[in-house]
Amino acid sequence: MTKQGEIAIEFTHVQKKFSGKAVIKDLNLAVPANQIFVLVGPSGSGKTTILKMINALIQPNGGEITINGKKITEYRVQDLRWQMGYVLQQIALFPNMTVAQNIAVIPEMKKMPKKKIKERIETLLAQVDLPAAKYAERYPRELSGGEAQRVGIVRALAADPPLILMDEPFSALDPLSRTQLQKLVLRLQAQLHKTVVFVTHDMNEALKMGDAIAVVHHGKIQQVGTPREVQLHPATEYVARFFADTQ
Ligand code: ADP
Repeated sequence: MTKQGEIAIEFTHVQKKFSGKAVIKDLNLAVPANQIFVLVGPSGSGKTTILKMINALIQPNGGEITINGKKITEYRVQDLRWQMGYVLQQIALFPNMTVAQNIAVIPEMKKMPKKKIKERIETLLAQVDLPAAKYAERYPRELSGGEAQRVGIVRALAADPPLILMDEPFSALDPLSRTQLQKLVLRLQAQLHKTVVFVTHDMNEALKMGDAIAVVHHGKIQQVGTPREVQLHPATEYVARFFADTQ
C-alpha cells in the first residue's frame, strides 16, 4: 500500500517505437499515489501507449518504468495486473454472464471467499447507484451504456486493487451520462483514494477530473501541473493552443 505523497508510477527516459517510428520519446513522468492523474492530449499523441506500458500490455524499447518502487520487469505479469483495475471506453462485459458474475471473475481468480465476494458486489453496486436487488442478475444486453460503464467501474474495483487505469472511459457516452459518471468517479475517489491514471482527449474532462494533469503531444509531455496551473500558466504554446481550442 502506498502512502499519500509517494510516487506510485515512475517513467524514466522511456521510449517506444512501432515499426521504427518513435511514438513515445524520452518520457519522464512521476504519478503520485492516491490521486487522479490525467493524461490529456489529442488522438494519436501516445496516451494509450503510455497506459498500456503500465500494465505491461506494451513493452518499452528503452528506459525504465517502476511501479511502487519496483522495476516493472521484476514483476510477474499476473502479480502486476492484479494490482490494477482497467476501465476501457468500450466496456467488454461477458455477454453470457450476469452483472454479478461479471464482477466476480477477478475476485474468484484471487480466491476471495464466496461470502465476501457477494458482500463486495452488493456494496460496490450500491456505491455506483445500481442496487444489487435490481441489477445483479441482469445480463449486459439489459443495461444502458452508462449502466454498463458503472458495472465496468465496479468490476475494476472488485478485487480492491491500489491502482486503476481508465482509458477514455466516458467518451462513448451521451453528455448527461458522461457528467453523471464523472461525478460518480470523483465521489468514489473521495472515499477510496486509489491511484488513478485517467486518459482523455477532452481538456474540460481533464480539468474536472484531475488532481494533476499531464498534457501529451507527439509522445512527449508538454506540461504537468494542477488543473489551475495548466489553465492559468500554460508552459508551452502548444498547451495554450490546445486549451484555447477546447473552450
Ligand atoms: P492516443 O491514445 O493518444 O490516441 P496511441 O497511444 O493509441 O495514442 O497511439 C500513438 C501512436 O502510435 C499513433 O500514431 C498510433 O497509430 C501508433 N500506434 C499505437 N499502437 C500501435 C501498434 N500496435 N502498432 C503500430 N502503431 C501503433
